[in-house]
Amino acid sequence: MKSVWNEQQQEIRDFYEQVARERVRPSAASRDITLTFDRQIWRDLGASGLFGLHMPEEFGGRGLGLREFTAALEGFSRGSQDMGVLVSFVAQVGLVQAGLLSYGTEEQKQRWLPGLIRGELLGSFAITEQGCGSDVRAMKLSATQELNGFRINGQKWNITNAPQADVVMTFAHVEGAGDKSVTCFITGTDVPGLERSEPFELLGNRGTPIGAFNFNDVLVPESAVVGGVGGGLNVLYFAFLVERVLTGLVITGCMEPLVEDCLRYSQERLAFGRPIGENQYIQGQIVDMYCQVEVLRSVLLRAMDSMEQGVDCSSLASMVKMIATESLHEACLNAIRIHGNSGYRRDKYFERLLRDSIGVFFAGGTIEIHRHVIWTNLVEGFRKGERMRDGLNLGVYQNQNPATTAFSQPAEEAIA
Ligand SMILES: Cc1cc2nc3c(=O)[nH]c(=O)nc-3n(C[C@H](O)[C@H](O)[C@H](O)COP(=O)(O)OP(=O)(O)OC[C@H]3O[C@@H](n4cnc5c(N)ncnc54)[C@H](O)[C@@H]3O)c2cc1C
Repeated sequence: MKSVWNEQQQEIRDFYEQVARERVRPSAASRDITLTFDRQIWRDLGASGLFGLHMPEEFGGRGLGLREFTAALEGFSRGSQDMGVLVSFVAQVGLVQAGLLSYGTEEQKQRWLPGLIRGELLGSFAITEQGCGSDVRAMKLSATQELNGFRINGQKWNITNAPQADVVMTFAHVEGAGDKSVTCFITGTDVPGLERSEPFELLGNRGTPIGAFNFNDVLVPESAVVGGVGGGLNVLYFAFLVERVLTGLVITGCMEPLVEDCLRYSQERLAFGRPIGENQYIQGQIVDMYCQVEVLRSVLLRAMDSMEQGVDCSSLASMVKMIATESLHEACLNAIRIHGNSGYRRDKYFERLLRDSIGVFFAGGTIEIHRHVIWTNLVEGFRKGERMRDGLNLGVYQNQNPATTAFSQPAEEAIA
């Protein structure tokens, strides 16, 4: 496929594709079956620099640009064939590290970022509870202020990396804080009263540990608050934007090999005395997959440009996630159909990716919620009488709060 990378970016991309081929791919199928997350792989990936390519050098990162990081992640996803490790990656790098870098205090960054970037620590970002998912303001986790900090009680549920996490960024209502009570806290998971569940048995994403946290009278110091008391939704929406774009990147990388494998098979497999690729039905399926990769990449690069320029890109980020999720699911089904009987076997990665693709319909906000975000931005712009920019309202005029970063969404829309 035609490259969108310069020479240095292509080198980075190739390097991380190779890292993933050697370190992640060989055990992906068995980790899926046995519900295993391999901490040594995580440490090796940290040592390869992947978690900190775009992070400042003072925290152990490499200080490279967003494009270089993008190239690395696409290459890594291409090589890994493992949405398990990729989901863990997005949770830590896209949510925890991004949230911490933008909203953490200097002390919090110095304390947590180097270990996360090195892969020695595993981070998780806990919002969802059994009683609330999309409607994050309905969360029940509570924090009561005391003389020496906050006492946290409640449960978080279905959280990526939770069963093995060393660090958790979580969100709770601070008692008595009024309307703006959702607050973000960061703590190690070794504090008294904080328990982690075993990994949940899920349909897909089984190579990532997903489970629950129980907070039983967990006492954290005031210095554990990220983004100020009542500032939790700002942290959350900022991190969500990064997460959505990173998920799109990961999916672009996962989809390319699907297209290539289908193309190859369409030339090799004979039916009725000729390659199956000579049938227009097969051609159409592969062409659609290929087009979706290119569309996704274009929207992605536009979203990344907006991020780099500090422009709000809430609609773009939701578009990325929506297109990525639906395209991946469709592409996995097509790959199985094109490969026929052999595509349906478990020794191919298609069925694993198909199961994993279903999880992405929910993780980091459901597809319905992404449509809702885009719709809300469209209507808001329309009501203000503003013309659509380049045919699309990308949510740019949502950036009305100078206290928040350029791409954090106003917190009224409290949905994940
Ligand atoms: C693989 C995976 C990893 C995850 N990792 C994390 C994590 O690290 N941290 C974390 O906090 N959570 C995580 N989650 C949880 C995820 O964020 C939630 O599942 C998601 O927010 C949806 O919540 P819910 O499942 O409770 O669905 P609900 O919010 O109960 O929604 C149920 C259905 O109703 C629809 N719906 C709800 N409200 C609306 C609306 N206003 N308009 C239209 N439709 C609507 C939804 O789209 C969905 O189809 C993960 C989930 C998965 C699958």
